[in-house]
Amino acid sequence: MIVVMKAGALQIQIDHIIREIENFGYQPHPIFGVERTVIGAIGDEKTKWHLMDALAQEPGVEQVIPIVKPYKLASTEIKKEKSCIKISESIAIGGNEIVVIAGPCSVETREQIFHTAEAVKKAGAKILRGGAYKPRTSPYEFQGLGETGLKLLREAGDAFAMPVITEVLREQDVALVTSYTDILQIGARNMQNYGLLKEVGKIKKPVMLKRGLANTIKEFLMSAEYILSQGNYNVILCERGIRTFETATRNTLDIGAVAVLSYETHLPIIVDPSHAAGKWSLVAPLARGGLAAGADGLMIEVHPNPHEALSDGPQALLPDKFAALMQSLQKIAQASGRALPLPE
Ligand code: PEP
Ligand code: MN
Repeated sequence: MIVVMKAGALQIQIDHIIREIENFGYQPHPIFGVERTVIGAIGDEKTKWHLMDALAQEPGVEQVIPIVKPYKLASTEIKKEKSCIKISESIAIGGNEIVVIAGPCSVETREQIFHTAEAVKKAGAKILRGGAYKPRTSPYEFQGLGETGLKLLREAGDAFAMPVITEVLREQDVALVTSYTDILQIGARNMQNYGLLKEVGKIKKPVMLKRGLANTIKEFLMSAEYILSQGNYNVILCERGIRTFETATRNTLDIGAVAVLSYETHLPIIVDPSHAAGKWSLVAPLARGGLAAGADGLMIEVHPNPHEALSDGPQALLPDKFAALMQSLQKIAQASGRALPLPE
């Protein structure tokens, strides 16, 4: 349920409601808006009417409304305005500016990650990506450089003043990965790894949650809810294509999901055209489509030498192709009333 406080409600009244919610065995989630505070109360659906009645009588409370959707904190019922997730002093995802994340699938060598970082930064990417722990289909394929990869990614990000994002595969690695990265990525294969979701819910750093290979939008939002319910509200969603009968693309980019998510959730949405396409030549049109559909940003794989990439080479853009794509994305951003500032 949502407890809507009156405009100008006193802090002691807000604190009292938070305590009451806790006393009933519910979890309070206050959201401090510009005009008023609303407090989400999440707990047993069966006993909620009793608590709703009690809270409605309290001083400072304007009204108490049930949340109908199964995802509570992720839903637009609790928060209408888009969440803007702060990544660094100058970068936020979910604001007017489109944010492009770019970099190789995997961190491979110092030279590779530095070269890519320099190129994507010059083309206008704001955040550097690179996997250090790779969820490969085959156990015999490159599994990532581990902590060495995290260190190289961090050094390259720092060298070119870019925040970094990297995937965390296991619960026991969350603390280590958090110590190196600005954003934690939960990969498609782990979207329903609820232990891992709870673990990243306990930290405060932003988490980008990728949609599972065969998961519905509802399941996707329920997974986001796992992170939010632990108190980490810095969640970014990523549509990266789903499995369908179609085999011409690696996955089917669900553009419809971008539209649905914009209605259903206040969380920002990133589109990953690279893992949807599976082929570099299809990345640009899918990127443009994702942006036109309302995404707040894109994540694109770039590699200086795709033929020698240790993972996902076929879908990696060469730096000059990426730079050309950025130019065309800027026009789409402008046509959508968004901004995508590019370096001179
Ligand atoms: C990746 O971003 O490199 C990745 C493994 O993506 P996904 O989890 O979407 O397959
Ligand atoms: Mn990849």
